[in-house]
Amino acid sequence: MKKRFLTAAAAAICAVSLAACGSSSTGTTTADTTAAEAAEDTTAAEGGDSAAEETEAAEDETEASGGTLVMATNAEFPPYEYHDSSQVGPDGSDIVGIDAEIAGAIADQMGMDLVIEDIAFDSLIPELQSGKADFVAAGMTVTEDRLVNVDFSDTYATAVQSVIVTNDSDIASVDDLAGKKIGVQQGTTGDLYATDDFGDENVDRYPKGVDAVQALVQGKVDAVIIDNEPAKVFVGDNEGLKLLDTAYAEEEYAIAVKKGNTELLDQINAAIAELKDSGELESIVAKYITAE
Ligand code: GLN
Repeated sequence: MKKRFLTAAAAAICAVSLAACGSSSTGTTTADTTAAEAAEDTTAAEGGDSAAEETEAAEDETEASGGTLVMATNAEFPPYEYHDSSQVGPDGSDIVGIDAEIAGAIADQMGMDLVIEDIAFDSLIPELQSGKADFVAAGMTVTEDRLVNVDFSDTYATAVQSVIVTNDSDIASVDDLAGKKIGVQQGTTGDLYATDDFGDENVDRYPKGVDAVQALVQGKVDAVIIDNEPAKVFVGDNEGLKLLDTAYAEEEYAIAVKKGNTELLDQINAAIAELKDSGELESIVAKYITAE
């Protein structure tokens, strides 16, 4: 089991809010260095396999250098990306949220127009690989498995996987999930970890996180494992649900590009660094996540 179960103390620090966990400049820098080192280690361990892919991808590098930058996301993940018809997002559509605004700021810095594509979460990496999208910003967690297929930017947020249950549930800790029916969003780390830890037969997969939450409300599943910030939004939107105090896993979000597209990756990393230094990243986060 990887970094799956957090100590209560670590969970408490991270669960407070993303702002508390990821945005203080010292904390972020330390975390980012670790993530970058981990990424390098994994890539190096890939060895021969990735060399061929990199050559292929290098030929595609110019794709993003036109006037338009295509971001793929799954806009069902508040407060990172979601539809809100009362707002206008950075690409002129109704897709807003932390990732959408970060992407808008990156596109601005690169002098390019942003187009946001809303597709299924488990289609995001294929969309990059086929060259239809330039990057993915989707609250996507850096994992070793994903690093085989894509390259990740420096991380811009720390997150935790949380457990939602009904107020009257007998599930009080992660251990109590054994043998229970767990709802997840298909293809997410919540899905992958729950399947690993509790067995395929105990995991029900839904296209959207909100569908898994509806299944919980309707009594079709006993718990939902999902990222903490959307979890808080979904619990707030539905009567009778609560979050367990203990977190299930600790993670880091980053932007993904096609494997080997170092030109775009460097530009994205430079833009992220600028957003961190100027405090703009912090203000974007603060706009969507209220510190507790
Ligand atoms: N952080 C999770 C993952 O990367 C979920 C992301 C999402 O549902 N948008 O799998």
